Amino acid sequence: MKIAIAKEIDESEPRVAASPDTVKKFKALGADVAIEPGAGTKSGVPDSDFTAAGALVSPEAVKDADIIIKVRRPEASELARYKRGALVIAIMDPYGNEAALKKIADAGVSAFAMELMPRITRAQVMDVLSSQANLAGYRAVIEAAEAFGRAFPMMMTAAGTVPAAKVFVMGVGVAGLQAIATARRLGAAVTATDVRPATKEQVESLGAKFLAVEDEEFKNAQTAGGYAKEMSKEYQAKQAALTAEHIKKQDIIITTALIPGRPAPRLVTAEMVRSMKPGSVLVDLAVERGGNIEGVQAGKVVDLNGVKIIGFTNVAGRVAASASSLYARNLFSFIETLVDKTTKALAVNWDDELVKATALTRDGAVIHPNFQPKSA
Ligand code: NAD
Repeated sequence: MKIAIAKEIDESEPRVAASPDTVKKFKALGADVAIEPGAGTKSGVPDSDFTAAGALVSPEAVKDADIIIKVRRPEASELARYKRGALVIAIMDPYGNEAALKKIADAGVSAFAMELMPRITRAQVMDVLSSQANLAGYRAVIEAAEAFGRAFPMMMTAAGTVPAAKVFVMGVGVAGLQAIATARRLGAAVTATDVRPATKEQVESLGAKFLAVEDEEFKNAQTAGGYAKEMSKEYQAKQAALTAEHIKKQDIIITTALIPGRPAPRLVTAEMVRSMKPGSVLVDLAVERGGNIEGVQAGKVVDLNGVKIIGFTNVAGRVAASASSLYARNLFSFIETLVDKTTKALAVNWDDELVKATALTRDGAVIHPNFQPKSA
């Protein structure tokens, strides 16, 4: 069994799909491991560290590989180099990208989307959404603090008192919770909101205050899978009125609100941004799905009357070394389930719920039920 670690061809992607630690683990599983030169450079891992861990560093790494691991979905030029029947495991971003999935199917490889991993106890260690969102939540606060011209903690000095920054976190999933915790560690006064009632207790346990319209709809606003539902127009209007008043008084806003398979909900209007004091900073972690903040631009910092709206994409990638090492562990834990421990050969159980949930293509066809071609 040969496992290859691909170098990302997308220049804006600094992460890598393996660490020296996971290379050793793959070797212990009985695999030969090869890596493309420079794959870890942007994450601070030189080729020599991968060599020391037992990997072969070679431009031909993916040739003949049985499993290719990557961060991002492979493009046509990459697919052309993979052998038919190989498994390719990455963050595939399949929603709305059916044409790209068709190309992967046509290349005859079996693609697995790590972000479709079910959120069950057994797969927690493979949960890339959590490992990456956690770092993005942390980094969003660091970006905000860097762009904010004032201090976060309250400081009482002989020269006067600096008040604590007021931070408002909108959307309290994995990223939001880490944003709250990070802002609290920096000494900010933190409030947070979410449409899922279960988050109230989590917010309060981190020492922040919860803000939401807590009506009947709110009490039922969580799916069985623990995700947010899209709220009614009426609820959104009530919630917007409540948050509009609150936003006027905030220094920093971090938005993280997402609904699986849907565009991100619009939570902050341009009018709300205009109501904030100059010097305030907003960070929109939902920008890649359309954004929670009106006026946010992907990959840019927009200045609106002295208020900055940060729309950085791939925020986890801005903590590339940590993000890579956690992603690498997520991948290893999944791949371990695809290997027969006795024969040390690849033995995919296509009926396993983890495989069923993540497998996008196989034998030349798109097999995932959510991404079937329209004519099928
Ligand atoms: P997410 O990234 O899908 O969304 C971020 C947050 O935005 C969610 O908390 C969501 O409720 C919120 N949101 C959506 N619409 C909103 C709106 N209009 N206003 C305010 N907030 C809004 O969420 P996530 O981080 O993936 O977490 C979703 C759930 O999955 C949570 O319950 C989390 O605890 C759970 N989870 C479970 C596991 C596991 O069991 N393995 C792992 C990670 C997360």
